[in-house]
Amino acid sequence: MKAITHNILICNIKKCEESKKNYPFIIIANKVENKPSEFNIDLTKKIYESLDKEGLNQFCKDLNLVKYDFTKIDDKIKQEKEFWEYVHKIIDETLIIEGKLKCPNCQREFPITNGIADMVLRDDEM
Ligand SMILES: [Zn+2]
Repeated sequence: MKAITHNILICNIKKCEESKKNYPFIIIANKVENKPSEFNIDLTKKIYESLDKEGLNQFCKDLNLVKYDFTKIDDKIKQEKEFWEYVHKIIDETLIIEGKLKCPNCQREFPITNGIADMVLRDDEM
């Protein structure tokens, strides 16, 4: 599971949807892989701009990969190639293979297996 997926997932349990505190998920990672891929700075910038920065911070924090606070990136930092190489590493190359996503509101844990999060709810959770 990549950061871009983590960035859009919310807890769909009814009481959590109503709380509006169902995002971002806390990541409990048991297996993380780094899969090298080609660095395309324009594509990296485009994806980065579309991402929620609080969610991206959570992703990095839980994976012990914090280097920047994405809510406080100024134009000067955006001029640095090093910053974009880091963003590329986070959003394109970092994969959670095994672990759990924990809802920040209800604490429900959703398993991640072979890189895929199982978000299916039980009948009594809907
Ligand atoms: Zn929840």
